[in-house]
Amino acid sequence: VVRAIPAAVGYSPEFDRALQRGWRSEAGAPGHSYWQNWTDYEIEARLDPETAKLEGTVQILYAHDAPANLNSVLIHLHQNLHREGSPRSSEQEITGGVTITRLAADGEELSERPMEEGPGWEVDGTLMQVRPTIRLEPGDTLQLDIDWEMALPQRGAGRMGHSNKEVYLIAYWFPKVGVFDDLHGWAAQPYLGNAEFYDDFGNYKVSISVPSGWTVMATGELQNPEEVFSAITLDQLDAAAVSDTLVVIADAASRGAGTVTAEGTDGWLNYRFSAENVRDFVWTASNVQRWDATSAEVANQIWPDVDTDSDDRESEDRESDDSEAQALPIIQPVVDGTRRVLIHSFWREDLAPLWAEQWRYGQQAVEFHSEYTAYSYPWSHMTSVEGQDIIEGGMEFPMMTVMGSYEGQEASDLYNVTAHEIGHMWIPMIVGTDEKRHAWMDEGATTFLENQSKMEYWPGVDHHRVGARSYLQVSEARQEQALMRHGDYYEPGPGYGVASYLKPAALMVALRDVMGEEDWLKAYRAFIAEWSFKKPSPWDFFNTFERFAEDDLDWFWTSFYYETWVMDHAVGRVVSKPTGGATVTIEDRGDAIFPARVRIRTSNGMDFVHEIPVYHWLAGNDRYEIEVAPAAGAVVRVELDPGGYAPDVDRQNNFWPRGSGE
Ligand SMILES: [Zn+2]
Repeated sequence: VVRAIPAAVGYSPEFDRALQRGWRSEAGAPGHSYWQNWTDYEIEARLDPETAKLEGTVQILYAHDAPANLNSVLIHLHQNLHREGSPRSSEQEITGGVTITRLAADGEELSERPMEEGPGWEVDGTLMQVRPTIRLEPGDTLQLDIDWEMALPQRGAGRMGHSNKEVYLIAYWFPKVGVFDDLHGWAAQPYLGNAEFYDDFGNYKVSISVPSGWTVMATGELQNPEEVFSAITLDQLDAAAVSDTLVVIADAASRGAGTVTAEGTDGWLNYRFSAENVRDFVWTASNVQRWDATSAEVANQIWPDVDTDSDDRESEDRESDDSEAQALPIIQPVVDGTRRVLIHSFWREDLAPLWAEQWRYGQQAVEFHSEYTAYSYPWSHMTSVEGQDIIEGGMEFPMMTVMGSYEGQEASDLYNVTAHEIGHMWIPMIVGTDEKRHAWMDEGATTFLENQSKMEYWPGVDHHRVGARSYLQVSEARQEQALMRHGDYYEPGPGYGVASYLKPAALMVALRDVMGEEDWLKAYRAFIAEWSFKKPSPWDFFNTFERFAEDDLDWFWTSFYYETWVMDHAVGRVVSKPTGGATVTIEDRGDAIFPARVRIRTSNGMDFVHEIPVYHWLAGNDRYEIEVAPAAGAVVRVELDPGGYAPDVDRQNNFWPRGSGE
């Protein structure tokens, strides 16, 4: 053996247990006994925009379906990232964090005290442990009542905050129950500022008070538009809901005249939202922004209720892993015509002129992504907020995104970030991956989808190849850090960005090239449909693609996801024979395993592609010889990877004669 051979992908003991108990499956779909906990939130909040102070009360109903007893419950207080002394991965504004003014569990008042003193609550950085008087058993529902106050940062880790106290993007703002799942128990991962989020799905009823004149948009449906908007605004919203083109809901004139909102009571407006089956709740408020709207048209899909406890699945013949894989039907929706999704765009004309076209980008992205994923955008609106001072790139939330002004940049840059953030509505907002442990799952898939949609909106360039090149430069320089690494544990440098965005996006395209577009698309779409509103792990992702590839792809996962191996195929010697024909040697100069496609053209006009299967490399070889028959004449040109999607760090040596490429 002269070369690196990738190890088989091993399951953790926790994943093995999940397979044995039927929580997950070898086929990559959720298992017949898949479970996840559920949370209902009822929140009342009041924002004082002049002081950037927020106070709220929340009633949480935590439905505990896990087969475990819980003596305590983990709550995230994300704003403690801004508290003096909290651990964090980079410098942040100090706001004092979250002040808990009341906490009751099942109606019993609890106080802050250390564990040895029994029931109570304790805060450590962004995590709060609540110990109720009675432990939680499977099937129990815990009621928590919490009152809190906090000052909002201007720039909360570049993901939320306010601009000039005239635009607010309020995220990570309420006490939120952490995830207790089948693989890790409590995901007790603090928010340090870099690695993102991991959430359960839940229902939200949220009542938000702001001064009159302030508009609010949020995750979910507004329940009382007549109470908060003026008659003109209501008419314009109705028009936008059926329009393909721009409808201006508010502009400088109507903001100045105070005709956008209703009058309110004692100078205050109360917006009431309801959101079902979402992993977070976020809102935005402004008294100055222009408000553009239009609507997107998507297929009206009705998805079957997948009952993971159903007897049908239990009784299926699952004697071997293969029979389970084949028994799984592909989930398909019933399509009943089309449906419209409101597209909102809030922005400031003086700060962000590029945003004049942003409504178009939002509309195209919702339509494109719905079609490409074959999973229609499921909600009633998608709202984009210009957040100069709050953020430079973009950040995603269910039904919402905040993005920079992009002042001084290209229109295509604002398009890219819009297509990217809206791409996140599929992963992680519909498919609830763990963004902290496995950032590549949502960022890689989203960067892929962004590039795919970009080729429709800005045709003429293969954006997948452009993105792949940046990853391959870092790979060639041996500056990679592995994908399978927690998002808070990357060293400074390009490691996190390449491993989370560029590389996994390039790998999606490489795998599509290996599997063929048809099978790859089936796998990609099945992964989204089967894991919609559930929480897949990397092994579910790997197993889903292997199910549709009908092949073991461990060589791919190990070489590129677990390791930072470099892939470099090269055309070696081409030895002509006096009688015609030649021996073409292909060399594998890297460690990463990848199949090779070799295109050979000869003097007799032959032009063919020879495939070198991965099994040849896996057998320990680093060389492969192709015999070109005498009848073909002399070899004129040899080209490796004519499709251009292999993650090959050195394309110069992919051609013979050297220099005959690209
Ligand atoms: Zn992203």
